Amino acid sequence: MKHVKYVIVGGGISGATLLHALSQREKDVLLLERKERLGGVIRSENILGGVIERGPNTLQTGNAHLEQLIDELDLAGQLVTADPAAGKRYVLRDGKPRTVPANPRSLIETRLVSARAKLRLLREWLAKAPPKNNRDESVGAFVERHFGPEPLNYGVDPFVSGIYAGDPHRLSLRHTFPVLQELEREYGSVIKGVMRRAKERKLEGKERKKRTLFSFRKGLQSLPQAIEQRWKEKIIIGVDIKPLERNEEGWRVVAVREGGIEAIRAENVILALDGRGAAEIVGPIDAMLSEQLGKIEYASIAVVSLLYDRSAVAHSLNGFGLLVPSAEKRDILGVIFSSTIFPSHASEGKALLTVFIGGVRRPELVDLSQEELIQLAHHETADVLSIGSGSIEAEVTNWRMAIPQYNVGYDEILAGIEAAEERNPGLYLLGSYRNGVSIPDCVKNGYLLAKRLKEDRK
Ligand SMILES: Cc1cc2nc3c(=O)[nH]c(=O)nc-3n(C[C@H](O)[C@H](O)[C@H](O)COP(=O)(O)OP(=O)(O)OC[C@H]3O[C@@H](n4cnc5c(N)ncnc54)[C@H](O)[C@@H]3O)c2cc1C
Repeated sequence: MKHVKYVIVGGGISGATLLHALSQREKDVLLLERKERLGGVIRSENILGGVIERGPNTLQTGNAHLEQLIDELDLAGQLVTADPAAGKRYVLRDGKPRTVPANPRSLIETRLVSARAKLRLLREWLAKAPPKNNRDESVGAFVERHFGPEPLNYGVDPFVSGIYAGDPHRLSLRHTFPVLQELEREYGSVIKGVMRRAKERKLEGKERKKRTLFSFRKGLQSLPQAIEQRWKEKIIIGVDIKPLERNEEGWRVVAVREGGIEAIRAENVILALDGRGAAEIVGPIDAMLSEQLGKIEYASIAVVSLLYDRSAVAHSLNGFGLLVPSAEKRDILGVIFSSTIFPSHASEGKALLTVFIGGVRRPELVDLSQEELIQLAHHETADVLSIGSGSIEAEVTNWRMAIPQYNVGYDEILAGIEAAEERNPGLYLLGSYRNGVSIPDCVKNGYLLAKRLKEDRK
């Protein structure tokens, strides 16, 4: 039986980053991935005359670990930064795209919220710091308490849906936007806190650099692909991992692939999977852990790429995209103006739009047929962006159980995972259900776990 010091199961960006970080100083590392490529939900394709993203679309500058990874993989020459036109964002209100205010003046002028809501925003300045408590409050309850219902419905609800495809009334503030809780504790008012902190940074000469969105010439998949190329001799793709076993010699990982089964003895096993996948694998060795992981709720989401002749779209498409609040009662969550953000990802004279459908708001829509999803995406988008008739080309991707929901009560799940790592030496859990869902968070967590593994050996 093969004997390996570190076996990583799952080659999404979390597992792939760990492989990269660990392999720089450890020879004995093996990554096992079920699909035929690394990347997990990161999936770019060269079709529809350009680059489409079937999963995530953009990254943001200002993340040290992500920048380190790009640097170590020599990918800097392949970066494409977002067009300045993508700076603007829209939210749908009363069926029309409204610009999201980006400064105090545009906040006064905006038609996204009523005059009454704007006055209520001003009153937030007077909010007093609440008595200290350790309450796990939902994002929705916090925002409503501070700013009232309209900023919740037309600001935070679509924003939260853009990141988590989730429900602000169920997501935990502490686990999704902890900075808001911090500002409240320190200043009482969130607005006051943001302004005071900006002023302090200015006085100290530590003003934040403006963050920019970026991707790669061939799309985000360049990132996991570069890891795959760099460490190919340490990767086995196209293998399914059976539930984990343990005996006095260590962990026994059983990998099944076409044409055979291979058992591997491992000193350490790192599960870099989604919560449900990890729950299945740990079932026989730790039922309590399996139960906690199985409790994590996931949002399913369908991504529809639509390609139109630019002349058919009346809207300026001057922006990053349009978010759709649940209060608007539409069947789509939002549209990204992909050809505006990265003009090089679409052919000249074409408009490439990426439409998101489903989420925790409407999970049943993800089960529609491909044709139904294309029709739905087209009709809704044509209505809100004034798109005329003409030819459409489209691609659909259904992600089932794709984005973990850090809902109120998440502390219990995280504590359960930590306790399980303590009682199972040599077992580690990594993935977007722990310490952040964004790609930069997953990359950071991969590097940090590599460091922890080194410390655990001492
Ligand atoms: C539609 C969508 C849009 C997003 N947009 C953005 C964005 O614009 N920017 C951003 O920063 N983030 C975005 N995210 C979030 C981010 O992309 C993900 O959270 C992150 O990529 C998850 O990486 P992961 O490695 O933790 O998990 P995954 O990508 O899910 O990887 C898990 C891997 O494990 C493998 N696996 C599962 N079971 C087994 C098994 N039994 N044996 C072997 N292998 C197995 C899977 O095949 C997969 O490769 C988006 C997510 C989605 C779904």
